[in-house]
Amino acid sequence: MVCNKPARYKYTWPGKDENVICESCGLKLQAVASAVGMHLQMRQLDEINLTCPQIVKEEIKIERG
Ligand SMILES: [Zn+2]
Repeated sequence: MVCNKPARYKYTWPGKDENVICESCGLKLQAVASAVGMHLQMRQLDEINLTCPQIVKEEIKIERG
C-alpha cells in the first residue's frame, strides 16, 4: 500500500528521478542507502501539500503463542 503520510523531504536516489518522502520512510531509505554504501541526498521540502508515495508493507503484527 502507499504510505500517504505528509511528505517532508525531497530525495534523489542515484540514477533515478527526484521524489518526495515522509519522515519515517526517509529514515528507512537512509538506512538502506548506507547499508549498500550509497549517499542519499535528502533536503527539506517547502511544499506541505504532498504525500509520501512510497510503497510500504502494512504493519500488522500477529502475536503467536
Ligand atoms: Zn512514507
